[in-house]
Amino acid sequence: MIKNIFKNISQTFIKNGHRLTNQRRIVIEVILNHKTDHMTVEDIYESTKTISPNISLSTVYRIVDFLKQNNIIHKLQVDDDHYFYELINTEGSAIHPHFICKKCGKTIDILNEDILNHAAACQKNITSTYDFKIVSSTILYYGICSNCLEKLKPNALPKKNKKK
Ligand SMILES: [Zn+2]
Ligand SMILES: [Zn+2]
Repeated sequence: MIKNIFKNISQTFIKNGHRLTNQRRIVIEVILNHKTDHMTVEDIYESTKTISPNISLSTVYRIVDFLKQNNIIHKLQVDDDHYFYELINTEGSAIHPHFICKKCGKTIDILNEDILNHAAACQKNITSTYDFKIVSSTILYYGICSNCLEKLKPNALPKKNKKK
């Protein structure tokens, strides 16, 4: 699976006249290994350093920017001050939606297959209805997560005492 992703990425690079250098490879590896996390450039830098201790933050910034420009990763702007990066699905399907909790700030991936199918169908529909070519998309839902909702309930009892 990871091997396939690398293959796809290096093909994209060749097509665009770039090379998969060692440093670029390591950064992609880090992003792949944290596929379920939502990483900032600093996060990516911290993890990259454990593999390649001599790499500098500015190099990581440059590589992340390069990967973004080549549609390998996608920048998700959560609000004015917060954003993170995620790998773009190389199969070209719709990027998964996210739910962001306004209370605890947690970012949750929406990966339910049914919902993803609907999102993909919606994207297809937009493409054909408007004659657009969609290159990336961001679906963000803001609200209060189930954990925080639970805490907001009046008289919330510890879980073990909860009456059915
Ligand atoms: Zn929350
Ligand atoms: Zn995500």
